[in-house]
Amino acid sequence: QTTTKPPPTPSPLRFSKFFQSNMRILVTGGAGFIGSHLVDRLMENEKNEVIVADNYFTGSKDNLRKWIGHPRFELIRHDVTEPLLVEVDQIYHLACPASPIFYKYNPVKTIKTNVIGTLNMLGLAKRVGARILLTSTSEVYGDPLVHPQPETYWGNVNPIGVRSCYDEGKRVAETLMFDYHRQHGIEIRIARIFNTYGPRMNIDDGRVVSNFIAQAIRDEPLTVQAPGTQTRSFCYVSDMVDGLIRLMEGENTGPINIGNPGEFTMIELAETVKELINPKVEIKMVENTPDDPRQRKPDITKAKELLGWEPKIKLRDGLPLMEDDFRQRLTVPKN
Ligand code: NAD
Ligand code: UDP
Ligand code: UDP
Repeated sequence: QTTTKPPPTPSPLRFSKFFQSNMRILVTGGAGFIGSHLVDRLMENEKNEVIVADNYFTGSKDNLRKWIGHPRFELIRHDVTEPLLVEVDQIYHLACPASPIFYKYNPVKTIKTNVIGTLNMLGLAKRVGARILLTSTSEVYGDPLVHPQPETYWGNVNPIGVRSCYDEGKRVAETLMFDYHRQHGIEIRIARIFNTYGPRMNIDDGRVVSNFIAQAIRDEPLTVQAPGTQTRSFCYVSDMVDGLIRLMEGENTGPINIGNPGEFTMIELAETVKELINPKVEIKMVENTPDDPRQRKPDITKAKELLGWEPKIKLRDGLPLMEDDFRQRLTVPKN
């Protein structure tokens, strides 16, 4: 899906790359869960300078504390719904709350972040000739009627539901990306991220893996939302970051699904967490929220073929890595 439009005029910064080989990279939402792991990986390369723009709605400076003060790192308090003027070569555009309780908290703000935020980052990419990657979501498939979901599936989305600010917002963001690509020749990359988990997830953000692990550590019942037979496929964050960087560095616009095809019902997930973390904990069925997708599993044929990527970490191996981080933050040592 690439077009023949001419590339945008190289910016002075691009031109300056003839003289210096450093890559300046903007990460919006870089203080969040996935963003901060992405920053860690980008900072490992000494040729990269990283700028994070984040309004700290769901992220925190704490996630980036090891880079604050580093000469190749800059942190800006900035809301992407406002214009941003910086000179960069690449933009990883992640800014957007990802957990349902946070994105439903102020739905109008969520859709503004997705639409105006993405428009601003595309305007920035156009002005400076940067390549831009959007972290879209498996939620663009809605409550999918095709299973597993390939990128060619157009989805089954409720346009007026309580999740629409997020999933329709991301769908418009994808449209904007392709319109800037076709109309202005911007180099775009779109990742459709499926449920991701790992250290630094917000402890109380309401997502299922963080909920179950925190509940197991606190000796509280694991709250399976009815019916519990709904499925998700969970990708460990280091695999996710690897996929995002490969997509950015590769030649394909996407959209490309990045996720782990290992599919579990929420009852199976609860049983696995119980077995691995706290065999004494109870599993409790609670009420669900509206429009909860019944099944979700990525078809990752495209990621395998075009990016040479597939996830390496199985759920049973990833959950204990997350447990260590949660125990530290909850100050509950393993006995
Ligand atoms: P997160 O909530 O931990 O991180 C989002 C970051 O964006 C936070 O640091 C937050 O403060 C920042 N932010 C929110 N609104 C902003 C605004 N208006 N201006 C500037 N910064 C803003 O979420 P995450 O799990 O790290 O998700 C990162 C991206 O990946 C999001 O775009 C999300 O939609 C996408 N995604 C995540 C998952 C997942 O399972 N984690 C699944 C699909 C898609
Ligand atoms: N924009 C930005 N940083 C830039 C350039 C543009 O935030 O470096 C914003 C700009 O404020 C505008 C949006 O990106 O709201 C789209 O910019 P574009 O130039 O594509 O459109 P226009 O300004 O002509 O509406
Ligand atoms: N869920 C659950 N218990 C919880 C939180 C969520 O059973 O404490 C279920 C929820 O109903 C959904 C799935 O877990 O079916 C994934 O929810 P999450 O909010 O983590 O992510 P989503 O994929 O819905 O964005």
